[in-house]
Amino acid sequence: MAFRFIDSHCHFDFAPFKGNEALYLQMAKDRGVTTFIVPSVNQSNWNQVNGLSKQFDGIYYALGIHPLFITSNYEKELESLAALLDEENNKCVAIGECGLDFWHQDNDKEIQISVFRQQCLLAKKHQLPLIIHSRKSHDMVVKLLREIKPERGGVIHGFSGSLQQANQFIELGFYIGVGGVISYERAKKTKMVVSQLPLDKILLETDAPDMPLFGFQGQKNTPDKVQKVCKHLALIRKESMQTISETVYKNTTSLFGI
Ligand SMILES: [Zn+2]
Repeated sequence: MAFRFIDSHCHFDFAPFKGNEALYLQMAKDRGVTTFIVPSVNQSNWNQVNGLSKQFDGIYYALGIHPLFITSNYEKELESLAALLDEENNKCVAIGECGLDFWHQDNDKEIQISVFRQQCLLAKKHQLPLIIHSRKSHDMVVKLLREIKPERGGVIHGFSGSLQQANQFIELGFYIGVGGVISYERAKKTKMVVSQLPLDKILLETDAPDMPLFGFQGQKNTPDKVQKVCKHLALIRKESMQTISETVYKNTTSLFGI
């Protein structure tokens, strides 16, 4: 039985993919992974992700400022982002990745909140979904989303948190991004959560080249591993790969309008 997958979060402009795109795309295709959403981290790679989408059919991209990649120039970057979004580009399918990361104590929370808030407003203005990175910050992300109400929703990528938090995001029109973390024995809480979520609110992702699966520690992660993430999810949820791959594929195309 052949399955088809979308890697909803893959940094395909990073090493080891850069310059070796055809090789990694073929590896992915051999596992049924035909489509990729490539988020950016700040102005430094907006051109690169756009370029990839022009070069390869199955690649779509997102423009945004990641909370851990905010530079001192962020106000200008937000202006450039707004200007870029005014240009027509049907392969730019989301704002991201953006969000909040309160894991590192020394980051300026107020600036993160302001940069994220402005990206939520841009998502609302341009009717685009958001690709959200949220670490130790779910309550504040929920608060901002409730306030701004970006209608197209988005995805909480690489979700880890409680079932209650996941459900708060779902109520706000968001999907939950599930990645390789569920391949680890120790990820008991996340596995319990993903076993209970409605399947039609789940997306699959690798976050490649980060977040290698169990058995691949110390190696660069690659987008073909979406198929393995699906396998783990099938075991955890006691559902077939067929059911999961079909439903998640539909979820992903419907969220990103592709
Ligand atoms: Zn990422």
